[in-house]
Amino acid sequence: MRVILKTLLVVLLFQSCDTGTIEKTAIPAKIKVVCTTSILTDWVLNIATEDVAVYSLLNKGVDPHVYKPSKKDLDLLRSADIIIYHGLHLEGKIIDVLEKIKGPLVIDVSKNFPKSAIITDPNFPASQDPHYWFDVELVKNGLATVQSDISARYPSLKVDTKANLQAYLKKMDSVTAEVQKKISTIEQDQRIIITTHDALSYFARAFGLTVNTLQGASTVSEFGLREITDLVNFICERRVKAIFLENIVSPQAMKSVQRGCQEKGWDVVLGPELLSDSLGQKEDQDTYLEMLLFNAHTITSYLTR
Ligand SMILES: [Zn+2]
Repeated sequence: MRVILKTLLVVLLFQSCDTGTIEKTAIPAKIKVVCTTSILTDWVLNIATEDVAVYSLLNKGVDPHVYKPSKKDLDLLRSADIIIYHGLHLEGKIIDVLEKIKGPLVIDVSKNFPKSAIITDPNFPASQDPHYWFDVELVKNGLATVQSDISARYPSLKVDTKANLQAYLKKMDSVTAEVQKKISTIEQDQRIIITTHDALSYFARAFGLTVNTLQGASTVSEFGLREITDLVNFICERRVKAIFLENIVSPQAMKSVQRGCQEKGWDVVLGPELLSDSLGQKEDQDTYLEMLLFNAHTITSYLTR
């Protein structure tokens, strides 16, 4: 800190002698963008310029469904120039909080999604599946919203953020093709993803798989013996090779499912954690594109054994 202050002082002194004005010499503060999740933070980092500082509200591995902002989180949100959140009710209590915060530009990434593209629960049509980051087309729609809203507030960022977005979308297309290629190596009748909560329905729809889970599209929804028995029966009947943990939920439920299958004579493999609602901690799992590849690789390697 002392070094930075010293440098700043030197710059100001040098430049004020040079130009005679302090105003021109002040180092411009960066535009402060606060994103809710690690996934969203990575997207915004990819389209932001050097004039933007990006912060994540939730650490990696934190469940956004049950997220409640702490005092520190509220301070961070209040100090932001821009707040960006996923929408579709992913982030627990965020809407209540954002409605009370005055000043920052607040962007709901999902606000321009075509209604027909949002997955809903057939039993509760009003409830929308918020895990749209596994549908690259919806991600593109959301990032276009982010880029255009930021540009409207800060026109000087328009050209560079647009160029960054276009470059990022190209990478996204190439990763999507790679994911598709991997998934296509799984036998048709084994293209089934079993996890604790229903986070991968968009992934399944995009890449031609089926999902079955203990919980609905929120980790808040409850499950009991009935759901475990139904899932065990499904796995045994379909002879599903592997089931998966998730990086934001406890492994206990899936361990019970595995035991249930073993008791019925089907030795299902308990696979590792898929990255569901957060990026991973490891170096090859801590960006959105790596998240897609990691999940595709893990699912494919366990279902093609
Ligand atoms: Zn979730």
